[in-house]
Amino acid sequence: MTPGDAGAPIADLRVGVLGGGQLGRMLAEAGRPLGVAFRFWDPGEAEPIAGFGEHICAAWDDDAAFERFVDGLDVVTYEFENVPVELARRIAEVVPVHPDPAALDVAQDRLSEKSRFESLGIATNAFLPVDGPGALASAIEAVGYPAVLKTRRLGYDGKGQEVLRRPDDTQGAFERLGSVPCILEAFVPFDRELSLVAVRTADGRFAPYPLVENTHVEGILVRTEAPAEGVSAAIRDQAETAVRALAEALDYVGTIAVEFFEVAGGSADDRRLLANEVAPRVHNSGHWTQDGAVTSQFENHVRAVCGLPLGPTGIAWPTVMVNLIGRRGDAEALLACDGARLHDYGKSERPGRKVGHVNVLGSTGQAARDRAEALRAVYAGPELR
Ligand code: AMP
Repeated sequence: MTPGDAGAPIADLRVGVLGGGQLGRMLAEAGRPLGVAFRFWDPGEAEPIAGFGEHICAAWDDDAAFERFVDGLDVVTYEFENVPVELARRIAEVVPVHPDPAALDVAQDRLSEKSRFESLGIATNAFLPVDGPGALASAIEAVGYPAVLKTRRLGYDGKGQEVLRRPDDTQGAFERLGSVPCILEAFVPFDRELSLVAVRTADGRFAPYPLVENTHVEGILVRTEAPAEGVSAAIRDQAETAVRALAEALDYVGTIAVEFFEVAGGSADDRRLLANEVAPRVHNSGHWTQDGAVTSQFENHVRAVCGLPLGPTGIAWPTVMVNLIGRRGDAEALLACDGARLHDYGKSERPGRKVGHVNVLGSTGQAARDRAEALRAVYAGPELR
């Protein structure tokens, strides 16, 4: 069936999702009320999507699983970034895949991601490829201390990176990251971290959500405040122009997120953004949209990849999103907090693992912040590694 056929029931749409984590669960939560059915392919246990659709549990190179997965699907998308690009390309030969596997290709490799920012005129911090200890030494000479060494691939939630502050840190750093291809980046003394989540349709409609402010601890997102306070029109414009340019260059369809560092310029009101990374999927810093926006990032992703009209991306409630990391806490106590909306991922608890989040709503940004502060008395904070 083609979405948009006159009178065609959208209930007939079947979406395949590569990956079966919490993002897949939340896509299904958002898509099912529209009548969309889901099938997931994940080689692992995929606890979060239990009960949300068929789970094909097989290695990515399993040919029989490939056939079972694509059978009868209208469109395929991802909830997980490290899906083999070749697999996504093979699927695209038989079923439309959104976003295009080219977006995965760019986002999986920090070097191509940063190079793409540069080629599109999107400001980013200085970076150089590092393929060995010798290259690291010369990159340090060029970039200076402090710097951040990151594996080009498979880094997430602060894993696969080391901050280098002095020559002692540099000694053996390449080897500690596994002697794999890396990039060295200048350390950014940012004032704060902002991100922009947006959605783009196949016919080129681009709809950004408000910029949000993120707090990371040990590289893991712990808190998002939506909207970010005190964002100037110039900063908003810089973020939207960058994400739009990237989405257009990739002919992107679906929800996309770009994380930025906000840095001070020469004068007090002179601030600018440096792009850090892009996520070619729904993003943790967009989870607030489930309760705080008119249409969530998950629903709009489903709508975009299915060729359905987008919903409004405006804010309904100022929201602070608090991640539940390592342990889910006392659900009853969390639910008793003013303005709290709990989202449990159905995952077993493990140190450093995201197991849920709470969206704390308020009538104003200050009210949401105060309520999030009150919630901290109930859920003391992230227990990281
Ligand atoms: P990433 O995996 O690149 O998103 O990094 C995770 C977090 O580490 C970021 O959100 C920042 O808080 C911090 N970080 C990463 N790269 C840099 C950098 N070049 N300068 C300063 N902080 C960084």
